Amino acid sequence: MATKKYLLSENDIPTAWYNIVADMVNKPLPPLHPGTKQPLNPSDLEPIFATELIKQELSQERWIEIPEEVRDLYKIWRPTPLVRATGLEKALDTPAHIYFKNEGISPVGSHKLNSALPQAYYNKKQGIKKLTTETGAGQWGAALAFACSVFGLELEVYMVKVSYNQKPYRRSMMQTWGADVYASPSDRTESGRKILARDPDNSGSLGIAISEAVEKSVFDPEIRYTLGSVLNHVILHQTVIGLEAEKQMEMAGEFPDVVIGCFGGGSNFSGISFPFLRHKLVAGKEIRIVAAEPASCPKLSRGKFEYDFGDTVGLTPLLPMYTLGHDFQPADIHAGGLRYHGAGTIVSQLHKDHFVDVEDIPQIESFEAGQLFAKTEGTIPAPESTHAIASAIRAAKKAKEEGKQKTILFNLSGHGLIDMSAYDQYLSGNMKNYQLSDEDIAKTVNVLEHLVP
Ligand SMILES: *Cc1c(COP(=O)(O)O)cnc(C)c1O
Repeated sequence: MATKKYLLSENDIPTAWYNIVADMVNKPLPPLHPGTKQPLNPSDLEPIFATELIKQELSQERWIEIPEEVRDLYKIWRPTPLVRATGLEKALDTPAHIYFKNEGISPVGSHKLNSALPQAYYNKKQGIKKLTTETGAGQWGAALAFACSVFGLELEVYMVKVSYNQKPYRRSMMQTWGADVYASPSDRTESGRKILARDPDNSGSLGIAISEAVEKSVFDPEIRYTLGSVLNHVILHQTVIGLEAEKQMEMAGEFPDVVIGCFGGGSNFSGISFPFLRHKLVAGKEIRIVAAEPASCPKLSRGKFEYDFGDTVGLTPLLPMYTLGHDFQPADIHAGGLRYHGAGTIVSQLHKDHFVDVEDIPQIESFEAGQLFAKTEGTIPAPESTHAIASAIRAAKKAKEEGKQKTILFNLSGHGLIDMSAYDQYLSGNMKNYQLSDEDIAKTVNVLEHLVP
C-alpha cells in the first residue's frame, strides 16, 4: 500500500491558539509565591517573563490570536504533514489505522520551535534585549537560539553538564545560531556556585539549570527568562499541532479513538491532544488520550499531586502538579527531554480528573519501537518520540487481539539524527532499563507535604 500523506496549505495554519482552560470543569489551582506561599500576583512574575506571556499564562480565554509575524514565521515549515503509517501497520499486521503528525521537519528538528518563536517575539516587542534559558539534550536551547537570531535577541543557555559534554552537536547548533552556551552547574550564578561548592563534580540536572537561568534574569531589567515546556503559555503555543491535525484527520475521513504524545513536561502531548480532547469536554465525544512517559521518570503514574517547585533550588513559583519532587534525580536515559520531575499544572489537573491515561515505557521497548518505525516509515525518531511510538504499537497490537479497527494518532515530536549515539548503544546491546523502587520515589516526594502549610 502506498504511503498516504495529508497536506494543508499555508492558509490552513491556525490563526489562534486553543486554551483548554476555558473548557475545563475544574480549573487548575493557582501558582503560589515561593516566599509567601500565597497565590501569585501577575506582577510577581514581571522580572522573569514578558508581560504578554504572563497574561497568556493566567488567561481563561478559549482562543488567543497568533500574531501575524509569528504566523508568517510558522510558514518556514508549517503546516506539518499528517502521515498514515501504512508501513508500520503492515509490519504489525494490525486492523488499526495509525497516523502520525510529523513535527520533526522543523528547521531545529522538533516541535519546540512552535513556542520559541512566539516567546522571542513577545520579548522583543517589549524591548527586552536578552533571554536566558536552560536546556537538557539541547532541543529547546536550539529552538530558542534560532528564534532569538530571527528577532535579534541575545541568548544565554544553561545546558545540563552531562549533555554539554555528551551531545556536542546540539551545542554547536545553538552556537551556530549565535547563542552563548554554558555547562550547568556553572560558576556564573549564586545557584551554580552553591552546588559546585558542595559537589564539584555535579553533572547537572534540568532543575539546577533552571535555577541558574532564572537567577540570571531576576536581577537585570533587560533580561527575561523563558521555558520550553510545563507552563500554560508554552502548552498553548503547541496547540497548533493538534489544530492542524484535526483538519487533516477530517481529510482522512476519520476521528481518532486514541491520541498519544510522549511526555516530558507536557508540551507536545498537550499540543497534539488538547484540540481533540475539546470534543470530549464540550460534546462528550469518546476519545482516549495517552501520555507516554519513561518508566524511569514516571511523574504522572507514580508521582504525587502536590505543590512543588519547578527548579531544584526553589526560585520558581510553587505549581500544583504531579511530581516526583524537585530533588528527584532521574536515571541517565537517552530521552533527555523526558527527564523532568514534574508535569504541567493543566495536564496534572486533567489527569486528576481522569481525562488523561498514562503509560510507562521502559527504555529498551522505546528503542525497539523507534527502530521498527525507522525501518518501516523511514524517519529515525528522537529518543523522546520513540515513547509515543511504543504506546501506539501497544494500542495497535491490542486492536489486533480484539479484532477491532481502531484509529490511532500519535505525535512524532522530533527526528533523532543528532541522537545516533543513543541508537549505537541500543544496537550494540549495551542499553539497559532502569527500575525505580517505591522507596526511591518516596525519598523525594514525601518532603513535599511540608512545602505548603
Ligand atoms: C523537549 C522534547 C520533548 C519533551 O518535552 P514536552 O514538553 O513534554 O513535549 C519530547 N520530544 C522532543 C523531540 C523534545 O525535544
